[in-house]
Amino acid sequence: MDHLSPDDLARLRAALTTLPEPVRRAPLARLTDGTYGLCLSCGEELGADLLTDAPARAWCPQCEADVVQRRSAARHGVCGQRGEGG
Ligand SMILES: [Zn+2]
Repeated sequence: MDHLSPDDLARLRAALTTLPEPVRRAPLARLTDGTYGLCLSCGEELGADLLTDAPARAWCPQCEADVVQRRSAARHGVCGQRGEGG
């Protein structure tokens, strides 16, 4: 798959600047260092369609599902009680 075109990047940057500062900070930093549009987890390119839909997106759909699942698992994580003796 091709990298995002300069036109895509310009359009997405403009879209990002309309978002609240805490939301746009990380994706704008990634635009600067050239990793914007790549999944933070697996490095897969997200593609213009996904990014147009959600410019601040940081994960591909597959990893995003994984991250959400892990977060919810962490919230409900079992608090390990230490038994007597080991
Ligand atoms: Zn991924």
